[in-house]
Amino acid sequence: MIDFAATKSLFHLPEGIIYLDGNSLGPLPKKAAARAASVISDEWGDMLICGWNEAKWMEQPARVGDKIARLIGAVPGTVVMGDTLSIKVYQALASALELRPDRKVVMSDSGNFPTDLYMADGLIKSLGRGHVLKTPSPEQVEGLIDEDLAVLMLTHVDYRTGRMHDMQRITQKAHDAGALVIWDLAHSAGAVPVDLSGCKADFAVGCTYKYLNGGPGSPAFIYVRPDHVQHVRPALSGWLGHAAPFAFDPDYVPAPDISRMRVGTPPVIQMSVLETALEAWDGVTMTDIRARSVDLCEQFIAGVEARCPMLTLASPRDAAQRGSQVSFRFDQGYAVMQALIDRGLIGDFRAPDIIRFGFTPLYIDQDDVTAAIGILADVMAQRTWDCARFQKRQAVT
Ligand SMILES: *Cc1c(COP(=O)(O)O)cnc(C)c1O
Repeated sequence: MIDFAATKSLFHLPEGIIYLDGNSLGPLPKKAAARAASVISDEWGDMLICGWNEAKWMEQPARVGDKIARLIGAVPGTVVMGDTLSIKVYQALASALELRPDRKVVMSDSGNFPTDLYMADGLIKSLGRGHVLKTPSPEQVEGLIDEDLAVLMLTHVDYRTGRMHDMQRITQKAHDAGALVIWDLAHSAGAVPVDLSGCKADFAVGCTYKYLNGGPGSPAFIYVRPDHVQHVRPALSGWLGHAAPFAFDPDYVPAPDISRMRVGTPPVIQMSVLETALEAWDGVTMTDIRARSVDLCEQFIAGVEARCPMLTLASPRDAAQRGSQVSFRFDQGYAVMQALIDRGLIGDFRAPDIIRFGFTPLYIDQDDVTAAIGILADVMAQRTWDCARFQKRQAVT
């Protein structure tokens, strides 16, 4: 069993705060500041451009990708880091569509995070080849898989409700219909067990500032199934995805492996912070994380439902269909969340009426959940939220 008190001690958690928002932005790993300082002073400062070789900055996107691969059921050499998740969605979809040139349907679902849908829409318009993007409800997706489908592009765990798709079954069904599948693991990597190899998923993408604690703006990752890599034409054919970037060849030749999905210069400082953050996962299995996450979520649901009858559970009640977050609906959800934050309980609000709480076993324990239930029950019972200063919307909710 994992010593969760030990993993908790790896993070800086401000006094007086219960942080149930690690699904949006993970907290600061204590070692991150020293690593950032060292990269800045010892590497950039003293090595200057030699850092690319001496400090192995150039290999970092693959090295960090291998660390993430273990957490998402991928083998080493199949995941590479870079850019943001929106960019990786675009790359994956562009490549996938080229592998199914005769089909015109892209399907996602209406619960997907908007940027994924915006990127798909933008790509379809740029291609101008008559693709259509379908966004049925998450429950309808499986029934609509047919032989017109080129690419199924789903986010595994719904960012609002925490509803989780059955990755194995849906991938199989799409493959049976001759389609390719892209999984967005934004709310899965470091949150729930994922078995990309076992599911034979074609592509996967995800970000690292949520459950992986890489810090604001930490780079995204992309996975391509090993038997596809050589057939995948990178739509964003940047020089660092070239087979020999330092040959400065005027013609683009993609790298033979996953590094063809790299684009340009990696964010070395930010990726070093991420690399340090990933040390918290050493010796941690996703099976242990999942067991603890389910316990924490169940404890929270039971406590809140017993004490806050005015809140409606928006997440699946069945733990097997839920990611590592719990959401409730309430008309005045925005004001409720502001009142909770004012009391030191940080979650977030997702329009139109969802208050959302993320459960991250590396640093959240039963005592935190008990305290969170107490604060929420108090704010609801006293209607603390019902005052003007909690109604005013800020830019980031
Ligand atoms: C968080 C999230 C994003 C964010 O994309 P960025 O490019 O990193 O800003 C995209 N898609 C999903 C499903 C997310 O949950």
